[in-house]
Amino acid sequence: MLGGRLLLRLCYYYDMVVVSVDRDKCIGCGLCTGTCSECFEMGGDNIARAIKNKCDTCDLKEIADACPVSAITVK
Ligand code: SF4
Repeated sequence: MLGGRLLLRLCYYYDMVVVSVDRDKCIGCGLCTGTCSECFEMGGDNIARAIKNKCDTCDLKEIADACPVSAITVK
């Protein structure tokens, strides 16, 4: 928990974006991984995870908005 808060503070300080997937919400539909495999990957448990916080080839906020269960957070 402390590590997460520290990371958020550092990201805020350096004006960085943090992308995360709520594991409890993700239904494994594959929309995010299918849209940008550079930023999202599917785990063996069929739950997506964010692997990048910045991308030159996709719009992370657009993907987050398209997630059917609003599991992706971009902040
Ligand atoms: S779009 Fe949302 S529900 Fe679908 S795999 Fe990605 S995080 Fe999970």
